[in-house]
Parts: sequence; C-alpha cells; structure tokens
Amino acid sequence: MNKEPLLQVRNLKKYFPVKQGFFNQVIGQIRAVDGISFDLHHGECLGLVGESGSGKTTVGRAMLRALSPTAGQILFRLDGQSYDLATATEKTLRPLRRHMQMIFQDPYSSLNPRMTVSDIIGEPLLVNGVSDRSKREQHVRGLLTQVGLKPEHMRRYPHAFSGGQRQRIGIARALALHPKLIVADEPVSALDVSVQAQVLNLLQELQKTFQLTYLFIAHDLSVVHHISDRIAVMYAGRLVELGTADELFRQPRHPYTEALLAAVPIPQPRRNLKRVLLSGEVADPANLPSGCVFHPRCPYTEDRCKTEVPEFREIATGHLTRCHLAE
Ligand code: SF4
Repeated sequence: MNKEPLLQVRNLKKYFPVKQGFFNQVIGQIRAVDGISFDLHHGECLGLVGESGSGKTTVGRAMLRALSPTAGQILFRLDGQSYDLATATEKTLRPLRRHMQMIFQDPYSSLNPRMTVSDIIGEPLLVNGVSDRSKREQHVRGLLTQVGLKPEHMRRYPHAFSGGQRQRIGIARALALHPKLIVADEPVSALDVSVQAQVLNLLQELQKTFQLTYLFIAHDLSVVHHISDRIAVMYAGRLVELGTADELFRQPRHPYTEALLAAVPIPQPRRNLKRVLLSGEVADPANLPSGCVFHPRCPYTEDRCKTEVPEFREIATGHLTRCHLAE
C-alpha cells in the first residue's frame, strides 16, 4: 500500500460573502467550511457525515475544485508529484480532473434526459480525446456490465430506467476515465431503502476492482458505517470527530456523534450508548456561537464551553475529537 496519502486537506476554508443593499455591500461571511484538515489514503473510503447545512457537500465540491476555496491546501498526489488543487490554475487542473470524479445525489436530475446512455457514459471519453465512436461504445458496453446493467441498454434514454439503474449509469459515467478519487455526494439517499444496499455493495465491489479512493458524503451514519474505513463527523463547518468506523460506532467521543448515533434507526441492543437527543437547529454559519459551536445544543455544556474553543486533538491513536470533556 502506498504510504503517502492520495490527498491531504489542510486548514480548508470556504466562506461566502453576505451582501445587502443596493450596492451589494458585504456585511458578513457565511463560514460554510471553517478550517478543516484530514488525509485520504489510497484505496480507503472516508465517510463524511453531518446534518444538512454542516458544510460536507461544500468540502466535496472544493476538493474537486467545483468551488474555489477561500484558504487552505488540498494536496493531491499523482505519479510522484504533488499538486495543490486549492490554488491550481485551470490549465494545471485540466489534466488532473479525469482522476477525480463525482457521483451525485439525485439520479433523476444528474443525467441529461435528451442523451442516450451511450452518449452520457461516453461523453467524458469524447471530451478527453476518444473520438472514435466504436471505441467509445465498446468501452461503454464494458462499463455497463461492470455496474450491473445490460450492454443493449446503451441506446435507451434515462427515463426508461428506475432510480437505482440511473444511479448505476451515473456511476458508470464517473468510472469512464478510470479515476483515482471519487467524491460520492449522498449517492444512495434519493433511492428506495431496498435499492440502497445494492448500490452500496456495487460501490464496494468497484472500489476493490478499480482500487478507488472514496470520499463518501452522507447524513445517515448507518449508510456510512456500511462502506467506510474511517468516518469524519462535521458540524457547522468544522470537523468534530474523526476515527475508524468501528471505533466511532463503539465509542463516540463527541456529544454530536453520540446524538447522530442515537438517531440511527437500526436496533443495536448491545451498543452501550447514552441517548443524546438533538434539539434545535445546526448553528447558523453566518453567526456562529462563541466557544464550542455545539454548546447551544449540547447536553453537557459547562461554562468554559461558552467561551473556549475546543481544539481538534488526538485522544487515542488515529481518533481525534473537538470537545473539552472528551477524556
Ligand atoms: Fe459539549 Fe462542551 Fe464538548 Fe462542546 S466542548 S461538545 S459544549 S461538552
């Protein structure tokens, strides 16, 4: 296994200006991502979880430079070279983009309804210089088989497929250029529960076959646990906990993770967890609370939580958390 991480994110920030008035005066900042750092190792799946509005999708989009970060580094290693995606020019990014692909949440709106499956999956090949149609179609046939669809489906349009099949088409398109990194943004949350497990299993098989590295974004911890080696928990633009999937489930060390786990709708009678119930809304990223940003919702809040920002620190090997009381 390659020891150097495929990707290193360091102090990544993405702020959006809040504008007001006739002259669009900037009156504040929405801190969607506020200084997060993590590594992504070759061949691993890192789950990124948090409620809606926690900033996880912004992280995924910034990693692929669909958004330009406000600050920080995103170091991507390829063929012995390191590229900082956060500051790279479009000219530098262009040849790198084929190695980083995205699987989208909504299989209904992410596929062009006027294109055949063959054209949808073959488009990235065409854009990257495979101009011979028969070669593209041969490749598309192979991809369709790999994602569990029939090659003869390639002349059909997206409307002829179910949600699960459309997501398989989206996955085939993401794989067309043999990427190294895939950011999967809630890839099963729009699907029926009965289909979710099939698509998750497919993603796991493909990860092994193509030695893919995943950032798997989801709001549902049970989905993330199924597929992830490690899990990072995000709250109000910051990481609050990071550890192996098993350790996070066995012994969460941040009250927010405890609360997310308590909401997992599967029976786990032997899991000896305190039942932390979340009340209130995710902190407003334009007006973050002082001290620990989770303190208005935390059942363990002490006085210092309201004034002192807890550091994101290692409390056991490879297990980091951001809580004054983690020990
Ligand atoms: Fe709760 Fe305090 Fe820990 Fe924040 S630092 S999570 S408020 S106990």
